[in-house]
Amino acid sequence: MAYTLKIAHLYGDLMNTYGDIGNVLVLDYYAKKMDITLTSEIVSLKQPFEPAKYDLAFFGGGQDYEQVIVSKDIQAKKDDLITFIEDGGPMLAICGGYQLLGQYYIGADGERIEGINALPHYTKSQDNNRFIGDIVIKNAETAQTYHGFENHNGLTFLGKGERPLGKVISGHGNNGQDDSEGAIYKNVFCSYFHGPILARNGELAKRLLLLALKRKYPTADLSPQEKIIIKPTY
Ligand code: GLN
Repeated sequence: MAYTLKIAHLYGDLMNTYGDIGNVLVLDYYAKKMDITLTSEIVSLKQPFEPAKYDLAFFGGGQDYEQVIVSKDIQAKKDDLITFIEDGGPMLAICGGYQLLGQYYIGADGERIEGINALPHYTKSQDNNRFIGDIVIKNAETAQTYHGFENHNGLTFLGKGERPLGKVISGHGNNGQDDSEGAIYKNVFCSYFHGPILARNGELAKRLLLLALKRKYPTADLSPQEKIIIKPTY
């Protein structure tokens, strides 16, 4: 393989609802097609996140119970995660991980779970309800359609400098009110899609891998990688 990339799987042992780890497997699948050797490493409780060590980061979803534990630990990694994000590090964050990158999440029992405020969104809870079901969105920049399955109590509202990952075509999305789903900030992509998201939306996996390659190998000719055709899998 011509290229190597290393992915930090943030709290992969705690934040993994509905098989979100599948996103790492899908990244590996497309990495092989793109001549990339991908290695992944779990960065969990009490372990440092060293921004210079990683080319990509993945942060999966979790239940409120795990989110409370991770919320406390992640404050020690806050500055290093923000350094990675502000430096253009590509990241995918799903559901509970998405919520913890923001300001805070009010859990289903009303408790305030602190995020790291790397992105300006915040998440409130809804009373005795969850958004569950199939969801379809359209990404404004690429006109790509993304398909997924959502299951969350949280209602997320985006902040300044964030744009949605997509406009809701069917389903609920961030909050059921403003037609937005997920968030994009710099090279960070957030979503409520489980399933896992990349298994049904290979174009997004390709986009993440290309961003990581361009950042690590700025002078490389990546036209063969750009040309890889992703077959729809939904
Ligand atoms: N506990 C959060 C919520 O219900 C996140 C759930 C998840 O990651 N699936 O909104």
